[in-house]
Amino acid sequence: MASKKPIASISLDLDNQWSYMKIHGDEGWDQYPSYLNIFIPYVLDVLDELNLKITFFVVGKDTESEENRKYLRMITERGHEVGNHSYHHESWLQSYSFEKIEKEIREAEEAIETVTGQRTTGFRGPGFSWSKDLLKVLESRGYRFDASTLPTFMGPLARMYYFKKSDLTKEEKKARKELFGKFSEGFRKLKPYKWDLEEGKTLTEIPVTTMPVFKVPFHLSYLIYLGNISMSLMKVYLNAAIMMCRITNTPVSFLLHPLDLIGGDQITQLAFFPGMNVTSSRKTEIFKKVIHCLSRHYDVQNMTKHVDHLELNNKMIIKKI
Ligand SMILES: [Zn+2]
Repeated sequence: MASKKPIASISLDLDNQWSYMKIHGDEGWDQYPSYLNIFIPYVLDVLDELNLKITFFVVGKDTESEENRKYLRMITERGHEVGNHSYHHESWLQSYSFEKIEKEIREAEEAIETVTGQRTTGFRGPGFSWSKDLLKVLESRGYRFDASTLPTFMGPLARMYYFKKSDLTKEEKKARKELFGKFSEGFRKLKPYKWDLEEGKTLTEIPVTTMPVFKVPFHLSYLIYLGNISMSLMKVYLNAAIMMCRITNTPVSFLLHPLDLIGGDQITQLAFFPGMNVTSSRKTEIFKKVIHCLSRHYDVQNMTKHVDHLELNNKMIIKKI
């Protein structure tokens, strides 16, 4: 019997060690240090245990090393989907020219397809960066969806906190001035819709879901933070978010990051990062609880399945940029 539950999609932004260091302004990122050899086998086993198939947004640059390729291949071999997370993972993508964006998307797409055997049809901008040109490039390359928006008023606050904890220079901060989005992002629509790209062209937008009305994020990074304080606090918060989504009929697109699932005990190179003192087993325990909560109300799938479902029901409004 087919499931009557609505769909919730799960995606993971496969940010590597170097991209965390790059955004953070740490020296040595340009040697492209990688933890994919540790993280990918680990997360694939966790997902198998939960019987989950999700979408991994892969960074093109990571396909350049033979060692990384070995692990990236495992993602599709184990039945998951890959999406495009840009080539260089620069959170100031919105300042690029049309040509530069086109190159960034195309090169990542080709590199990811060569390694994984799968052509990407979904995109998420690094640090939730996006622009009209980006949407046009995606549409022209036959992409089915963009997933780069995070409708929250918390972006500037998250950025302020991040800057405080980093060693970024004034110039580096300037380049990252829209990291995590502007305050006005909070006014963006939470339910999936289609961007009107003129001349009859559209592109589906699947925002990262935040709590309806309050627009506070509840993706895994936040839940890990709460769960580490108190598991019952985390559950109350998550259940409130799920309830608000159900009342307002908001589909859920749930976001994960590598450091939400693995701790400094395994990724010793980043042991000094915020939240890395929480062990991998603790993080995974919280993640499993989150998935169990979500699964009670939703049929948990990858992002393409989510888009298929939305298009079948044809409920998305068309929105001007
Ligand atoms: Zn990223």
